Amino acid sequence: MDCIFCKIISGEIPSPRVYEDEDMIIIRDIAPQAKYHYLAIPKKHFADVTEMTIEDASLVGRMLKKIGELSDSLGLNGGFRLVSNKGADAMQSVPHLHIHILGGEKMSDKMC
Ligand code: AMP
Repeated sequence: MDCIFCKIISGEIPSPRVYEDEDMIIIRDIAPQAKYHYLAIPKKHFADVTEMTIEDASLVGRMLKKIGELSDSLGLNGGFRLVSNKGADAMQSVPHLHIHILGGEKMSDKMC
């Protein structure tokens, strides 16, 4: 499959992992939009929340729990923002579900 995140997960494209378990990897975004900008990416490929099965929903729930557990060690003790884009209006550029984790600084309240 020609998916950049699947290639990162498989190691075909090198990308240092901040965290990895059986469900997901967390990497640093290549074009950070905040002081700290990570991507939590499930190892299973599905494009976005509209493609999620009930099992995928459990997987994403575990990812959210783990993000919360890791937040202090990721430098996010002041708070953080989670974003998952879907489709053209949201400017999704990689059609493999991922959760942006943004923090490390005070963010704008203009969007969300
Ligand atoms: P989205 O626009 O919501 O689909 O987010 C995709 C994100 O992936 C963007 O913020 C990109 O900067 C990021 N990205 C694309 N390629 C890479 C890569 N090789 N390593 C890390 N982040 C990437």
